[in-house]
Amino acid sequence: MNAMTSPNLSNVSETMPVTDDYLRITNLWKTYGDFVALQDVSLRIARGEFICFLGPSGCGKTTLLRAIAGLEPQTGGQISQGGRDISNLPASQRDYGIVFQSYALFPNLTVVRNVAFGLENTGRPKAEITRRVAELLALIGLPDKADRYPAQLSGGQQQRIALARSIAINPGLLLLDEPLSALDAKVRVHLRHEIKELQRKLGVTTIMVTHDQEEALSMADRIVVMNHGRIEQIGTPTEIYRHPASLFVADFIGETNRFASQYQQGAVKLGSVVLNTDVPGQTDGTAVMVAIRPEDILPHSAGHDAASKPNRLPVTISAQEFLGSSWRMHLRSDALGEAPLVANFSMNAVRRLDLSEGSRLTVELPAERVLVFPKGS
Ligand code: ATP
Repeated sequence: MNAMTSPNLSNVSETMPVTDDYLRITNLWKTYGDFVALQDVSLRIARGEFICFLGPSGCGKTTLLRAIAGLEPQTGGQISQGGRDISNLPASQRDYGIVFQSYALFPNLTVVRNVAFGLENTGRPKAEITRRVAELLALIGLPDKADRYPAQLSGGQQQRIALARSIAINPGLLLLDEPLSALDAKVRVHLRHEIKELQRKLGVTTIMVTHDQEEALSMADRIVVMNHGRIEQIGTPTEIYRHPASLFVADFIGETNRFASQYQQGAVKLGSVVLNTDVPGQTDGTAVMVAIRPEDILPHSAGHDAASKPNRLPVTISAQEFLGSSWRMHLRSDALGEAPLVANFSMNAVRRLDLSEGSRLTVELPAERVLVFPKGS
């Protein structure tokens, strides 16, 4: 078995074995004059995987996708697909389908003609093309829209047509460049499921670029988190969320309370409160940044073992916001001084403990949920 490793990636996930590399990117660089858009990027993707490139604007995710597509030749490094070195192949000779944020359908062609476009270029018999287009329209749930023009379709429908067109010739690789960003929130969530289901059904190796963490967490088998042209971490959604390799990843994927502290014998201090942590490998006396997610803070009734147990502190709710399925609570405590602490409590917990603005309670910051990073990481 071939474990996911890369010599130049310090925080690469080792937990998901890649048994059958389909796409292999090795030491890829891309520069525009003095500007480095991709910095020594290495990545291996298994056949059939759904991968998301995730990161803030300008981090290089689209550049990486375009390099894989041959639309933006890399400055250095190799790309191989299915065991074939494609580093220097023009886009037209690579084996992929691509969907862009802007749909990019031909406005003067009907849905049928749009979907058939790539197939017609392969010179297949007309009857076969007709059959394949009908099959694809059924697959994306739009068999009745065959004769419409793009302008007569909603954004979500247009994007499904673009998707059908991209998979028409059974590409080895499906590339999705922010395919959902132009759609409204409800359609996005619906299409997320549809795309994921379609990908599973087809088993096609897929890479999707997104800056939306929720999209990446809900769709990807593995997420590649990028920052400043480098890979910060590769891992399954739960690995990335639960065990972020850096403060950047912890902050980008989800929310965190953060504070500076010093590591001492497995513990850190939050104000005057000692927090035990499960984080190994830090040296005593190291300056660290500590992070804890609002949803990892557990509420208990006031006075609940507050003084006697570690990782607990008495707090007062200074403000609250209703989030629909939970409450976001702003907490204050003498033990914290001015440092703010934000927690998300479930509706049940709020009802059970009868919490509201001004309530006093004890919160627990469980050791296994306290994230510790070297300062400046
Ligand atoms: P976004 O989410 O905003 O699309 P991204 O992560 O996809 O961001 P890229 O489009 O890959 O970012 O761009 C990475 C960096 O490379 C950016 O700083 C961008 O300005 C720069 N860049 C991209 N194309 C060019 C170009 N043709 N010439 C110069 N710089 C470029």
